[in-house]
Amino acid sequence: MVHTFDKKAFKKQIKENVKLLYRKEFEEANDQEVYQAVALAVKDEVIDNWLATQKTMEKKDPKTVYYMSMEFLMGRALGNNMLNLCCYDEISECLDELGFDINAIEDQEPDPALGNGGLGRLAACFMDSLSTLGYPAYGCGIRYRYGMFKQKIEDGYQKEVPDNWLKNGYPFEIKRPEYAHEVRFGGYVRTEQGEDGNLHFIHEGYSSVIAVPYDMPIVGYDNNMVNTLMIWDAEPKEVFRLDSFDKGEYDKAVEEENLARNLVEVLYPNDNHIYGKELRLKQQYFFVSASLQRILCRYKKHHDDIRKLYEKVTIQMNDTHPTLAVAELMRLLLDEEGLSWDQAWEVTTKTCAYTNHTIMSEALEKWPIEIFSRLLPRVYQIVEEINRRFEIEIRNRFPGDEGKVARMGIIRDGQVKMAHLAIAAGYSVNGVAKLHTEILKTQSLKDFYDMYPEKFNNKTNGITQRRFLLHGNRLLADWVTDHIGKEWITDLSQMKKLELYADDKKAQHEFMNIKYQNKLRLAEYIKEHNGIEVDPRSIFDVQVKRLHEYKRQLLNILHVMYLYNQIKEHPEKEFYPRTFIFGAKAAAGYKNAKLTIKLINNVAEVINNDKSIEGKIKVVFIEDYRVSNAEWIFAAADVSEQISTASKEASGTGNMKFMLNGALTIGTMDGANVEMVEEMGEENAFIFGMSAEEVIAHEKNRDYNPMDIFNNDQDIRKVLTQLVNGFYSGSDSELFRDLYNSLLNTQCTQYADTYFVLADFRSYAEAQQRVMEAYMDETGWAKKALLNVANVGKFSSDRTIQDYVDDIWHLDKITVNK
Ligand SMILES: *Cc1c(COP(=O)(O)O)cnc(C)c1O
Repeated sequence: MVHTFDKKAFKKQIKENVKLLYRKEFEEANDQEVYQAVALAVKDEVIDNWLATQKTMEKKDPKTVYYMSMEFLMGRALGNNMLNLCCYDEISECLDELGFDINAIEDQEPDPALGNGGLGRLAACFMDSLSTLGYPAYGCGIRYRYGMFKQKIEDGYQKEVPDNWLKNGYPFEIKRPEYAHEVRFGGYVRTEQGEDGNLHFIHEGYSSVIAVPYDMPIVGYDNNMVNTLMIWDAEPKEVFRLDSFDKGEYDKAVEEENLARNLVEVLYPNDNHIYGKELRLKQQYFFVSASLQRILCRYKKHHDDIRKLYEKVTIQMNDTHPTLAVAELMRLLLDEEGLSWDQAWEVTTKTCAYTNHTIMSEALEKWPIEIFSRLLPRVYQIVEEINRRFEIEIRNRFPGDEGKVARMGIIRDGQVKMAHLAIAAGYSVNGVAKLHTEILKTQSLKDFYDMYPEKFNNKTNGITQRRFLLHGNRLLADWVTDHIGKEWITDLSQMKKLELYADDKKAQHEFMNIKYQNKLRLAEYIKEHNGIEVDPRSIFDVQVKRLHEYKRQLLNILHVMYLYNQIKEHPEKEFYPRTFIFGAKAAAGYKNAKLTIKLINNVAEVINNDKSIEGKIKVVFIEDYRVSNAEWIFAAADVSEQISTASKEASGTGNMKFMLNGALTIGTMDGANVEMVEEMGEENAFIFGMSAEEVIAHEKNRDYNPMDIFNNDQDIRKVLTQLVNGFYSGSDSELFRDLYNSLLNTQCTQYADTYFVLADFRSYAEAQQRVMEAYMDETGWAKKALLNVANVGKFSSDRTIQDYVDDIWHLDKITVNK
């Protein structure tokens, strides 16, 4: 497309599309209508590549990975597709000549926010890398009618507003009713002696829905490759016909209609936290069963031996959410394909692999037997049999160790433990950063590691540089290309060549100037959305991520309160102006998280309006943090806050996006921070706080008492007291009592300050002091920032995907010719 792009023809097509879609002349079209017209024209381009990819896959019959995930946090498609088709500038010029601004047009697209945070965004980055590297892949997920809620801030409080992303129609999806499948719930299982002498299991009395897939194109960078994201919608089995039903059928039809309506209505907005809601289990089974049926149909079109499925198909389960795939694949192989248990088990255990994303107990999925067996009676029978055989295997391997059997059992304490099922049946179990995988092996999954050491491996997460630099930060992307060529776009290790420029005064100056331009862009966004004036020359210190106690936004804002006290007490002391920027959604039912948002906003209100500090500190809470505004935020950041309690953040990926954009990290030795520091050098980051080992030791010994710190440190005591004396809440002095209690009061949580906020406070404050001193040395800072960018290569999702391919999936690349 690069060489053949015909601007004149493209402009004509946009005008035609406006006519076709809206029966309007182009001159009458608004931004939304032009967006739809441009998207349709780009889709036209994508479709040719998509068809060519399908043709190549039919011909070459390559092994394919199916990435199963409850979440795909895609972000906007238009700009990304334009870039990957290498016609961004050309289309941008076309629009300009037609009197439209490309940014305003891109801004018309809703973010398809079919995910919560890191886990869903990882799935999206992986899809981008799979296509760009030329690996055959499908993403399998759910087409939620309402994605992640929109966040409004009213009087400092978060308000959740439904995200009706399909309101204007989504131009990049294609409905595929020809690939619809039935998915069954409830009922009972009857056994029958078959003529072959085998027992047959017959599922009766169930309710069912029709799963209908929508395909979305995943466009590779400049390689004609287009993979598919298939996301499932639910429809009732038959159209409601009032007249022809007797009472029983009528009730059933109503029930199935309701089931179909509710099933894919919303994404559960909890990140790293499981609510054992029945509807959630239904969602999981729904998309897993539908995906597997489509996978088997696709396989059987060209192959007649289902026992060799694993030669052409591999399934990656993104966390335990799709673990039902294990039992459902067994069911299909046993009941539909007629394999024996041993045959079916061999196929399943050579096909499914599992990625673990967290060690936190509240995020581990366990389903009450009652719900599970009632909703999925046949699948439950199969899980029981898997468990029976698994327990025998444990006893054989570790005779007499009943403790092990109890700890490792899949069905135990009245629950089905999904992680145990995933590990027992998966051929690979991977963590998402070195430290995380080490903790899995030596602590949280030690029993399983002792049994299956060969299954365990690490795949450190990564991010796509195409969205988070090429699209999000055009100025820096162009600057990098001017200096080292454009190979970095598909090979991020090339960034290493920038090391040559780390000491180059001109390069440092240009880099800082680009950062300044990006800060101006964000400052305008903040002015428009928050009505707050921020100084683009101040340090932009940013913490954007889901709001969670373990991510410790509370530590950050308590430190801001501390700094404010310091400035008031010692106005003569040198202080470099700082803008603290937050962005975070809290799960709707997560009280302390929502209260932390309120605290940040109240602190902002007090500090931003205190003229006496001469604007030394500003605090901004950016509403509705999501992929589209994230791209601008990373580009504008000087400082990246990655301050989770060590051992709690499995990897993090926000940390990598900041590094890619030349922000310096202030962070703990947690998740992928450890490996980032390994790459860039500790002198180019600001590391503080307890190590994972220390945290884990305190948790084991229960010997941490935050009250000691409170009693001995008057600055901390002053800050905490300001939480409960109305300093930030006027007459309602009790407003932040729960946050105060979470830090100090043992009666309120299992133990006080679960996330070691006070323990790390002093160390954090010192690291922040080092940040300020470092920033005042402009060339020193520029050098550190350039060295961050130069050493970011490892953290491309292209590298991560290549690691998955080499060690787990074993796929071959395909080449798509048009
Ligand atoms: C990358 C990303 C995340 C994950 O951020 P962490 O800091 O790793 O938690 C969450 N939300 C969005 C929109 C992202 O782009």
